[in-house]
Amino acid sequence: MSAPEFIVLNGSIIPYEEATTHVMSPAVKYGLSVFEGLRAYWSDEREDLFVFRLQDHTDRLLQSMKLLRFAHDFDGAEINRVTIELLRRNRVKAAAHIRTTAYLDGKGEQQVKGPVSYSISAIEKPRAARTDKGIRCQVSSWMRMADNVMPPRIKCGGNYVNGRLARYQAIQDGYDEAIILNTLGKVAEGPGTCIFLVRRGELITPDLASGILESITRDTALRLARARGIAVAERMVDRTELYAADEVFMVGSAAELVPVVDIDGITIGSGSPGPVTKLLQEAYFAAVTGAIDVPADWLTPVYKSER
Ligand code: PMP
Repeated sequence: MSAPEFIVLNGSIIPYEEATTHVMSPAVKYGLSVFEGLRAYWSDEREDLFVFRLQDHTDRLLQSMKLLRFAHDFDGAEINRVTIELLRRNRVKAAAHIRTTAYLDGKGEQQVKGPVSYSISAIEKPRAARTDKGIRCQVSSWMRMADNVMPPRIKCGGNYVNGRLARYQAIQDGYDEAIILNTLGKVAEGPGTCIFLVRRGELITPDLASGILESITRDTALRLARARGIAVAERMVDRTELYAADEVFMVGSAAELVPVVDIDGITIGSGSPGPVTKLLQEAYFAAVTGAIDVPADWLTPVYKSER
């Protein structure tokens, strides 16, 4: 990856190399950061770049900061504005990934609520090959931390220790990705994705109290499915339901919509991406570029208002 020219630090667009923080900041010492990963998509047809569900990501960032009692002096409107400005300054005109991080800054103070700094980076990121061919997953022996331990609802840096333990165990054992169960032994999510299964024509996903992030892509997939007449259920999911499923797929802003073709060596359905997975992939990729009708606030144009 070649570094982009510019990055945002606290509302200013500065050279990428100059965005530094002190090693004694609470962010470095204790992992006290919250973040968002979102994507922007280029539409040839509309000749513009669109940030997908920007306001929803900004709202979730604000929620994560609120729950961690971060005392910040910037608002969502500033984050949105400067995200667009950065994409323009870096002249991004292809599929891109945006990372917005708000973190406890400073030089070593203990037990503080601020100062809170934020950064925004944007790099070009094309679709991964795994989106077409699917992945093989391992149900992890690591457990998803419970809401009263390290709430998965808060998208904080520290939470990703849990996902990392699970992912690297899975890779070590020859799989592509981990599926993590919650403390009740029910299916939660992947290290960076939510999970869906299709069984007897119904689309099923763990409910929001299953120990998962309130994923924006999960919400998009549910809405696209409902609009296409597919029956959906948000409920507790057993591990064995995954093995018995006709189709399984994982979703996330970065991962997009990835078919799961094997879990713990058990072939899922036919062993290749199934019809509901493909239908929703197609709908998702049409939605993110505005090739189909979507709610107006899902797509924020980057260059149109510049002209
Ligand atoms: N779960 C976890 C743990 C994640 O890190 C992510 C990626 N942000 C997701 C689910 C998917 O969330 P979203 O669709 O909002 O990107």
